[in-house]
Amino acid sequence: MSSELEKHWDPKLEEELLELWRREGIYRFNPRSRRPLFLIDTPPPYPSGRPWHIGAAAHYSQIDMIARTARMMGYEVYFPIGIDRNGLPVEIYTERVRGVSIRDVPRERFLELCRETLDQLEAEMIALMRRMGLSGDFDNYYRTDSEEYRALTQATFIELWNRGLIYSATRPNNYCWECGTTIADAEIEYEERPAKLVYIKFKVEEDESDLIIATTRPELLAACQAVIVNPGDERYTHLHWKHAIVPIYSRRVEIIPHPAARPEFGTGAVMICSYGDYTDVLLFRELGLKEIVAINQEGKMTEAAGKYAGMRIEEAREAIIRDLEEMGLVVKVEEIMHRTPVCERSKTPIEIIPMEDYYLKQLEFAEILKEKSAFMKFHPERHRKLLIDWIDSLKIDWPISRRRYYGTEIPIWYCERCGEPHLPPAGRYYRPWIEDPPFERCKKCGHDRFIGETRTFDTWMDSSISPLFITKYSRDERFFRRAYPVAIRPQGKDIVRTWLYYTILRCYQLTGKMPFKHVWISGTGLDEKGEKMSKSKGNVIDPAPIIEKYGADRFRFWCAQESSLGEDFRISEERIANAGKFITKFLNIARYVSLFPRPRRAVLTPTDRWILAELAETARKCYEGYRDFNFFIPATAIRNFAWNIFADHYIEMSKQRAYGRGFSKSEQRAAWYTLHESLRTILLLLAPITPFITDYIWRKLYSKKSIHLERFPKVRWSRAYTKYTNTIIEFNSMVWRMKKERGLSLRDPIEVEIPRELKPFKRDLVAMHNIVVR
Ligand SMILES: [Zn+2]
Ligand SMILES: [Zn+2]
Repeated sequence: MSSELEKHWDPKLEEELLELWRREGIYRFNPRSRRPLFLIDTPPPYPSGRPWHIGAAAHYSQIDMIARTARMMGYEVYFPIGIDRNGLPVEIYTERVRGVSIRDVPRERFLELCRETLDQLEAEMIALMRRMGLSGDFDNYYRTDSEEYRALTQATFIELWNRGLIYSATRPNNYCWECGTTIADAEIEYEERPAKLVYIKFKVEEDESDLIIATTRPELLAACQAVIVNPGDERYTHLHWKHAIVPIYSRRVEIIPHPAARPEFGTGAVMICSYGDYTDVLLFRELGLKEIVAINQEGKMTEAAGKYAGMRIEEAREAIIRDLEEMGLVVKVEEIMHRTPVCERSKTPIEIIPMEDYYLKQLEFAEILKEKSAFMKFHPERHRKLLIDWIDSLKIDWPISRRRYYGTEIPIWYCERCGEPHLPPAGRYYRPWIEDPPFERCKKCGHDRFIGETRTFDTWMDSSISPLFITKYSRDERFFRRAYPVAIRPQGKDIVRTWLYYTILRCYQLTGKMPFKHVWISGTGLDEKGEKMSKSKGNVIDPAPIIEKYGADRFRFWCAQESSLGEDFRISEERIANAGKFITKFLNIARYVSLFPRPRRAVLTPTDRWILAELAETARKCYEGYRDFNFFIPATAIRNFAWNIFADHYIEMSKQRAYGRGFSKSEQRAAWYTLHESLRTILLLLAPITPFITDYIWRKLYSKKSIHLERFPKVRWSRAYTKYTNTIIEFNSMVWRMKKERGLSLRDPIEVEIPRELKPFKRDLVAMHNIVVR
């Protein structure tokens, strides 16, 4: 680099700095440092397609600001970079881009294809994260599908199993037939979808009268085991405990008064089937009904459905409506919008099907988790509610087994003869579906052959132990004791009920402690109109070309000043370009200051004291924002100070003095001193947000070493002079306006009265505006 500052901020300069940082190793974590540790439980991003969401790029830029803030506060910061590589989206993406189906390819081969796909997506992601200036540990980045990581997931499972927190049960559970697996509550989304509400005539056995029942799921008639009516619903009091005959299947079922029936829905009489929704599950249990499985794992009707067996659910629904109409049993069909639970990934409506799964106990931990979570500080505080509401809404334990391939294997072998489950010792990575068991004989019956488990874990079983992985839990006890709980968990609002909740559950179960001191929750990146970005809407923005065009600092400055922490934010190229104008302005300010030498000390004038007072006030605001890791506050405070006050007013007021026109040497030195003091302070205050341009200017003007090895400055100037700010700005603006109205140039002389209050600044104001003193 040459010694003069460039006129324009060229993103190419950022690439030179990246190379310099890499060579100097300035962000390297020293685990033996005497400084207090600050570990960031970085969310390992999930490569599931391209391009990477620009909102995620903004999110990671802000997480980097957390790391840089903590370094400048004097902490030894560990900012790990991980990639989450387990789970369904990768399988689906692989099937799509490789044109294969998981069911037609041998498991080993399919896993290979997934790995290849992941490697490619991961390389693009890592390159972008580096380019954005993330000061993380890229040399040791971790993968959740590595042997080391998966061995830890398995070890924690074995530990919880031995403590009796895991059990197997056949239970009606959320099931996505499209994805072929059990789905946790947290993976369900609700969508308003059109549905047909069919009013069907049942016969009442005792008096042969008609009972009309409305349902959106007529294909579940095969599984209807009761009818309920609200006990207070007088239309049906005479039918309590009588019997209805299910059409087509001619089964008699009881008519039961139960408060779960809502009189205002349909006709107020409701059929209870195994299983239309979760209310059905609860009622089957409560009323002791015998379940009938009418839908299988492929999403087809079973033998229990009679002539509809083998049909797809929707096909069967249409067929049964036709048949009922022919039999004269349909009173009417209403088109309604129905709140439908769908699989988060494939958007397929969820079915509730009894499945055998492993469960991790969670309900019995709800109270203690709420109690303990009170000790974690939330940024912003209001997002704590997202976690508490989710804990309060839990109804079942967490089903953790998945019938998928690309995940961590459940480490169990079963005795071929008696079925007894055998778990291996914790410590290494096991693949029971392909490996020989590490045991000779069944501990129960002595048989010597075993069958390996083929299922994998829910991917949140892996990602929920990230704080344990990065603190070397069960691998380096000394480091773990120093590093856990970690300082902060930064994450998006959309994964509170999954990543945040599962992490505190699992880590509490394993360590008895909450895993973090701070929880930082950012909002969601939306498009210009405030809508979610999605490929189907065509409003996706690829972050890579944006960052290449504008540079990382413009992008980072934009995302810091776009919205306050925790709020959703809007993304468009125009907004980024606009916010980026500050970077150009800032470089121009620095170029001007760099024209003058920097004296070590000076005798300050009132004008200098005034701008340093404003600077002190700006620093105070910045620190308030930095302590809350809310970068909106420093970004807007610095922009306002540097552009609207320092450049517009102070530089103009002190210009003649800085050039020595009509002022003493001492007064000139005071201007030089103040210009540099202001610029140096702003550089340091801005360094976590725009690490490139600040380091570039710093090295040109102030040091051979990087600004990123510095601490935040202690600003000691009195803030008393800030009382003049409004009057100064008003006076200057008035003079500029007057000159403009009279067609005068800024240097033309003008006659104007300086307000009494501004007498201390008189000489600078006279010189600035060329005021004719009478
Ligand atoms: Zn699905
Ligand atoms: Zn056995």
